[in-house]
Parts: sequence; C-alpha cells; structure tokens
Amino acid sequence: MKKINESFVCIHCGEEIMQAAKTCRNHCPKCFCSLHVDGDIPGDRAAWCGEKMFPIDYKLLNSDYKILFQCTKCGKQHRNKRSVDDEIINLPQLIAEYKKYFM
Ligand SMILES: [Zn+2]
Ligand SMILES: [Zn+2]
Repeated sequence: MKKINESFVCIHCGEEIMQAAKTCRNHCPKCFCSLHVDGDIPGDRAAWCGEKMFPIDYKLLNSDYKILFQCTKCGKQHRNKRSVDDEIINLPQLIAEYKKYFM
C-alpha cells in the first residue's frame, strides 16, 4: 500500500502543515480541521466526501488524547489520536466554536 505523506495547506485557517515523519497526519495542528477523505481506516483515503471535518469531542485515554471528528457534510464520525505538535491546549475552545457547524 502506498503511504501518502505530503505537506498541505489547511483549507480552514491557511496554516501550512508539514507531515511529520512516520505519522499519517490528516488534521491541522492549529485549528484541527481535516478533510473527509479517509474511510474506516485512518490514512486509507477511501472516502469521496471531501468536506471539512471538525473535532466535536475528545477524551484522555492512557495519557493520550483521542479526538472525535465529525464531517460537516455527511455526519461521518471518526476518532483520531492527537499528533505531537497539535496545539491541544486550544482544543476545548475550538470544539465549543465548531458546535455551530453541527446544529
Ligand atoms: Zn487549520
Ligand atoms: Zn463526509
């Protein structure tokens, strides 16, 4: 399987995101926006939706953050681990802000 590991510009906040080695980053470290491109396996790029996904919830599990994302278009949810360079301190506030997309 081909591993896709490129840098990209966040479509939501415009931040340029460099792919960290050995990870398959799919969300922005600043605003946590991602695109709905993965199917059931993170990194598989199997979905054709392509809309924005935003974090709606998170929990701390074994001292690791698990973030729950939801697609603004089709409502698909998936969980993702945080990445080391995520600005995790902003996450609770961002989740509160993104609630408006899911009303
Ligand atoms: Zn962003
Ligand atoms: Zn979707």
